[in-house]
Amino acid sequence: MDRELLSEIKLLDERFEKEGAVFHEPNLDAYLTRLGTAVVADKKLENVEWKFRALRDPVPNAFALPNGSIYINTGLLALLDDENQLAAVIAHEITHVSERHTYLRNRSLRKKVLAINIINTIGNWNPVGGPAGLAISLIATVSPFMLAISVLGYSREQEKEADLEGLKMASAAGFVPEGMPNSFKAMQRDVEGEQINTFYSDHPKLQERVNYTSSSINGDARKLSDDEAKTAQADYLAVMEVVDRHDVELAINEGRFRSAVFVSQKLVNLHPDSTENVFYLAESYRTLGPRNAELTKEQLTSGAKKQAAKTRSKRTLEEQDAELLKTPAGQEAWKVNSEKAETLFLRSLELNRFNARAHRGLGMLYERLDRKQDAAAEYAKYLELAPNAVDTERVRRRLAVLRESMN
Ligand SMILES: [Zn+2]
Repeated sequence: MDRELLSEIKLLDERFEKEGAVFHEPNLDAYLTRLGTAVVADKKLENVEWKFRALRDPVPNAFALPNGSIYINTGLLALLDDENQLAAVIAHEITHVSERHTYLRNRSLRKKVLAINIINTIGNWNPVGGPAGLAISLIATVSPFMLAISVLGYSREQEKEADLEGLKMASAAGFVPEGMPNSFKAMQRDVEGEQINTFYSDHPKLQERVNYTSSSINGDARKLSDDEAKTAQADYLAVMEVVDRHDVELAINEGRFRSAVFVSQKLVNLHPDSTENVFYLAESYRTLGPRNAELTKEQLTSGAKKQAAKTRSKRTLEEQDAELLKTPAGQEAWKVNSEKAETLFLRSLELNRFNARAHRGLGMLYERLDRKQDAAAEYAKYLELAPNAVDTERVRRRLAVLRESMN
């Protein structure tokens, strides 16, 4: 049975690479490997080859395969604040591998998992209610068992062991132990207001995990001063800049607009004069549409979250937009967001007037605001600056339709 699981896992690893689910960027790969290797120290295990990679998935999650492949979603990389938190996440995952949790869970769960409909199990998990992300689809196809693990986590005892052992492991490698509870606190932000139960985002349990990991830290353990914490955040963000930009794109594609705003705002804070970062924040506000950027207390109650999940599963994003726009709150949010988007697009062009995508974004914004002339002008500039972009044809058609309607 273990052998069967191992070959399933090997296939999964290969599919992730082949289908482009892994986010490769030389600096990031080197960084993750350096961090992971430091945490692993000299652990050598049979059938385990340690690998640390980023998955192109905007849902905050991480998981380990029993062959030592550790995956951290771009959505989690973008949500964490510093290296100590990332080291904690990685150490947690390493513990699942080194303590053979997958095999133990495999024995106790396999029959159960196969007997139930796995898709039903994660039915209310799928955050957008639409098609699941690429990585999740691959896991579902290749290994339903790993899907259950990656989404639902291990047993409570195994998770606790991974938290506490992981904390020790990360501190032994020189990271600040508070990274562990702080990684849970980062997840408690719940930018999307989701009822999801991935390993890192099971909210009632998160507080419990903050508590027991915090109280396991020695009083004399190393702590970051406020200044050190700020520096650590800035350093981490600088390493993650490329990943974060990519994650913003993924988040927008999957309708996670509030996360897109949250992440791109961090990018703009880091480099306020980067035309790219300002562009991403503009895109995030444009696509946020009639939604409020930050959820209110009322929207974060468990009842409201359930209701929102229901809406997501029943309506397309366009339908949700249209419905919201009929409400005064939606109209107000759209007014605020469209103004922010316009200012930011223009700022992005001020920083670099050849930023073609900023022209396209402005075009789409003006089109939605029914400023046809302005929209046409922006699309024309986009086509002039990016004649070979992948969406040239699509924009050309939009422009033609616009010009037709103006006649
Ligand atoms: Zn875990």
